[in-house]
Amino acid sequence: MEKKTEDIIESSLNALAEDDSFLPDLRDESRQQAFKSLVSILSTPNHVNKSFLRIALENGTVVRVPAFRVQHNKTLGPYKGGIRFHESVNEDEVSNLAKLMTLKNALHEVPFGGAKGGVIINPREYTDKELNLICKKYVQYFSDILGTEKDIPAPDVGTGAREMDWMMAEYKTIHPGQPYRGSFTGKSVINGGSLGRRAATGKGVYFTFRYMMHNFIKENHPWMKDSDNRFARTAMEHYDRPLSIAIQGFGNVGSVAALQAYQCNYLQNKVVAVSDRNVTLYNSEGLDIPALIKYGKKHKGDLPVDDETLAEHEIKATVLNRDDLLEIEVDALFLAALEDQVHTGNMENIKARLIVEGANAPVTEDADQYLSDRGVLIVPDILANAGGVIVSYFEWMQGRETQFDTEDQIYDKLYDKMQETLDTILPQFFKDPFPLRQNCYIHSVTKLSTVLYRQGKLY
Ligand code: NAD
Repeated sequence: MEKKTEDIIESSLNALAEDDSFLPDLRDESRQQAFKSLVSILSTPNHVNKSFLRIALENGTVVRVPAFRVQHNKTLGPYKGGIRFHESVNEDEVSNLAKLMTLKNALHEVPFGGAKGGVIINPREYTDKELNLICKKYVQYFSDILGTEKDIPAPDVGTGAREMDWMMAEYKTIHPGQPYRGSFTGKSVINGGSLGRRAATGKGVYFTFRYMMHNFIKENHPWMKDSDNRFARTAMEHYDRPLSIAIQGFGNVGSVAALQAYQCNYLQNKVVAVSDRNVTLYNSEGLDIPALIKYGKKHKGDLPVDDETLAEHEIKATVLNRDDLLEIEVDALFLAALEDQVHTGNMENIKARLIVEGANAPVTEDADQYLSDRGVLIVPDILANAGGVIVSYFEWMQGRETQFDTEDQIYDKLYDKMQETLDTILPQFFKDPFPLRQNCYIHSVTKLSTVLYRQGKLY
């Protein structure tokens, strides 16, 4: 996973180095030196912070929990990125996710840098009191490097508004009299969070898909229908007809994207399969997504796992093994769980010709190459799942101004921002030979390189 991001950054920079119209003042040796600097700046994080949080458990045991905050790059503004509570967290993963945040913010013109945090725990194994202590300790241990203008965390897998409220409260206690509302985003609304933040990523994921497959193609149909670009052909094969969708992960991102697809007025799409950490549910006629969300709300976010429970809740679905979802015959596969879900072991069995990355880095480097070579159109994480950080930016602004938008205003602003990015990227993408991920990286790297050059940092 780590290698893929670095490789694409480097190949994007190589493409830019050969383009004489990009930074034309840089020539010969100084050009070579500048591009070497760029590779090293963008491939390595500025700071890797690691601590062992000392926690007294309710049963009297004292444990030390490993915790990270990786700050990758702050060229465009304060560091920004989520904090993940999961047992698979490790330094490489956190560093890679921090790098993706830098690229994502640059792509969508969000004035933040990139960072990521993580704590190696399974939050389900801790009591609420212990989780509260873990959140407080995280802020205490990293208190000097966090802050409204320094580094602004947000929720990620295993954390949510509750954890951000706890962390912001601790930050405020440690830094009395300093601005604190913008120190964390993804907080509850009563604590200065933005309306619409919880649903923002899932809504943005479905918006990206819908805008590309409907609005954009409709607008560009005259030239796209005759294009021999392999990705334009894949898109055209799926244009103007109802699409079947499978969604891996039914948490914050997956369940909201599923509901958006279920309610979509533009396309008569059907969500035929969803999965979570336990199970896949399948119905070729389309699943009752609102009923599954209602069930999840009462069962810690989990899906029903057996026929009896489904019957009891009047939900029509076949129960399959968890990983079966990936190989179902569908038009579109949304990946909204964790990293590395599509890999060399299953890439040959993927039937979907459209893949949307709601999660970060859910397709490994080899699988990405294999599927792209076969014309599978993969909408990359940094393009599709930026809704969360975009609304976090709105939340940060609202915290500074203490003026708050309505939920509808937030969604309108979110869709406007994502549409601006899509209108910048898609026309070029459907003409280029590169996969969409590479196009997005080139765009982000162009932005970062130009700013770094203008700031005199390329030496
Ligand atoms: P979440 O914890 O709310 O949900 C994760 C879901 O994935 C759960 O339904 C869980 O049961 C399921 N899951 C876990 N392992 C699985 C497996 N092996 N197979 C199938 N399902 C599995 O997390 P989330 O906030 O929805 O985030 C999901 C992904 O999206 C993560 O990669 C996260 O980094 C990324 N992301 C989230 C946001 C956000 O705002 N929440 C923003 C950008 C990116």
